[in-house]
Parts: sequence; structure tokens; C-alpha cells
Amino acid sequence: MTTSPDSAWYKQLHWQIFIGLLVALVYGLVVRGAVDPSQFESYRAPFSFVGELFIRLLKLIIIPLILTSVVTGIQSLKEPSELGRLGVFTVGYYLMTTLLAVTVGIGVVNVLQPGKGLNLSAPEDGGLEPTPLSEVFLNIVPENLFGAFAAGDMLPTIFVAILTGLAILAAGERASLIRKFFTQANDLVLMVTDWIMATAPVGVAALFVSTLLDPKLGDLATFFGDMGIYMVSVVGGLAIHAFVILPLILLLIARIQPFFYLSALAPALLTAFSTASSSATYPVTHECVTERAKVDRKAADFVLPLGATINMDGTALYEAVAAVFIANALGFDLTFAQQLIIVLTATLAAIGAAGVPSAGLVTMIIVLESVGLPGTGYALVVAVDRILDMCRTSVNVWGDSVGAAVVGRFMSPNRADVASG
Ligand code: ASP
Repeated sequence: MTTSPDSAWYKQLHWQIFIGLLVALVYGLVVRGAVDPSQFESYRAPFSFVGELFIRLLKLIIIPLILTSVVTGIQSLKEPSELGRLGVFTVGYYLMTTLLAVTVGIGVVNVLQPGKGLNLSAPEDGGLEPTPLSEVFLNIVPENLFGAFAAGDMLPTIFVAILTGLAILAAGERASLIRKFFTQANDLVLMVTDWIMATAPVGVAALFVSTLLDPKLGDLATFFGDMGIYMVSVVGGLAIHAFVILPLILLLIARIQPFFYLSALAPALLTAFSTASSSATYPVTHECVTERAKVDRKAADFVLPLGATINMDGTALYEAVAAVFIANALGFDLTFAQQLIIVLTATLAAIGAAGVPSAGLVTMIIVLESVGLPGTGYALVVAVDRILDMCRTSVNVWGDSVGAAVVGRFMSPNRADVASG
């Protein structure tokens, strides 16, 4: 939403979403305190309905938004080789920051040592299988154009959009009509995205109530029992990455005021928190980065959709912390070399995780098995996963947005008006 920064605070979208979340929290806690869990569903159903509507609206706009914005971004480049530089820089940046995030996670978990002394045994087979990484890469190229769009798969859609953009760029004048078509279609899609975002305060609050009253959330007391130090390790690691490392990158490399950027991104971060899905949040992230923070469009159009699918700082950090927690809880001592393997596999597993709820929990099996831990160990952390998923998804989206700002600066080093607060 393009509310002017001078409007009264309550007219600003991020405050509206924040207040919605607070009201939802109070309602959820009151119902949890006053009502028997078997009755939660009747207090939850209307909110789940509204929340689901909001998610559907977001999902509806994702594919048209990616297609039109990636194509318009690429067709406005000077030459195809510019895309090569952009791609290499973006992927390199994403890999580096994900590795940094995992390193922070490994540092924190080694200090706090959650799970030590629990002496649990490995759970039974939970029946979950992560998609092999080779398949994740293979799936980037769709077999069927419309199949990819219809399934709402982001990576194949980005692939098709890149090819289309490159073809338009290569064809030059011969493709002037189709170039104009994509530009205009992108304007329309952005307008609709703006409308959908205006409903975020209600949608985000409804989703939060629905989560708070979800029977799967479990007993809130467990969060403070055995799982307490584990939760503190994950949230503490995420906080260091989100509030220290990424702001430093923003300030030193992108030359953007972190507070300014954080408040511009607040609607996206809160939407990520309540949907636990970077993909579903993508339209809001795009709007915040381009409209509210005014980051270079060419960079944002390319970097953000890619980030929503492959750049998951929060997930990678979470997987590393969880793997060490599980090792501790099962009585395994991890060597330094094994911890190094965790750093590498957590980075890869996070790339392979889709931007949907609980995806990180499933790809964590790859990390566990890489160091000889039972893959079923993930079951030890399922009970508290949702709440951590909400936190790590916000960090994933924050990481993507900081990436867009850095790449934006790389694309236009001398642009003075780039979101400098
Ligand atoms: N829910 C996360 C996301 O969408 C992925 C994960 O489960 O870690 O970014």
C-alpha cells in the first residue's frame, strides 16, 4: 500500500497489521484460557475461513506477478549479459548470507547446548520423505508451460519468465508489441496486488487466531519446559541474524538505514509471520520493497521471486540448530567435522525447501541423515515447529528483502534516492 509516510500512524498499513495481530493474540489467549480445547474449533472456524481467503488471494496473484514483473525487469535490461551478472551476484550473495546464518545458528547452539541430558530415544518412522535435491533442480525446467502456472510453482515460472524476457530483449523492435503488453499487464497486476495488500490487517489477524487455536499447536506450557532452551536457541540465533548481521549488511553494503527499511518491510514481515510461507508472502514483499522502500525495480523484480524460493536464511539456521538439538537429545556427540557437514547440508536443504509452512522441517531430514542421525529425529521438534516456522519465515523474507536492496545498490551504485531513509 502506498500510504504516505506523513499520514496518521493508525492509517499506516504496518501499524494496522500490528494492531490486528495484538487483538488476535488477546482473543486467542482468552479463548485458550477460558474454553476447553475440544471447543476451540467453533471459536476458530470463522477466522480460519477469512484467513484462508486471504491466502487464496495472495496465491492467486503470485504467478501473474512473477511472470509479468520478471519479464518486465529483464526486458528493461540493456543487454542479456547484464542478466548474467545479476544472476551470479544474486546467487552468490544468497549463498554467502545463508552460510552466515547457519554459522550464527551453530555458534548459538554450541553455547546454549539445548537437549543435553534429555536422553530421548529416536522416534518411530514418521513417513516423511524430502524431495531429493537433484529433483528440486530438475523441476526448475517445467515439462509443461501451463502445468507449471497451474500448479503455482514459483521456480519453473521464474524460469519461463527469464526465457521470455531474454527473447523479448534479443528480438528488440520486432517484439515491441509484446514488450508493451507485459509492461501494461504488470501495471494491472501491481494494482490488484495493492488492493489485496489493503486486506492484510484482517487476513493476517485471522490467520494468527487460527494458528493460536489450532489443536496442533499443542500445550503452550511445553514451549517453556524441555523445549525452552531449544526455542531460545532458534529464536536467539534468528534475532542475531535479523537484527545484527542483516542490518549491518544493509548499512555497509546497501547504504540504507536499517530502521527505515524495517518499517517499510513491516507488512511483509508480519504477513510472513502469520502465514509461515515466504511464497504466499511474496506479493506483499514485492510491494513493500518496490513501493514502500523504492528499491531499484530491475533488481527487486528478479531477486525477490528467486529469494522467496531459494534464499532461506531463517530455515537454514533453524535446521542447523534443530539438528544439534536432536543430536544432543539422542545422546550423540557431534565432532567438529560433523558440525561442518551440518553447516553445508543445512544451506543446501534450505535452498531445496519450498516457501510453504513446515517445508524446513521436512528437508531437515537431509541434514540429520548426513551426519548419521536418524531422519525420524525431526519428530522430536514437531510439537513446537509452527511457532518457530513463523519466526524463521519472517527472517527468510527479511533476508530476501535485504538481498534486493544490496543487489539494487549493485545495479545502480550511484542512485541517491534508493531508500536511504
Ligand atoms: N515456512 C518457511 C518459508 O516459507 C520454510 C520453512 O519451513 O522453513 O519460508
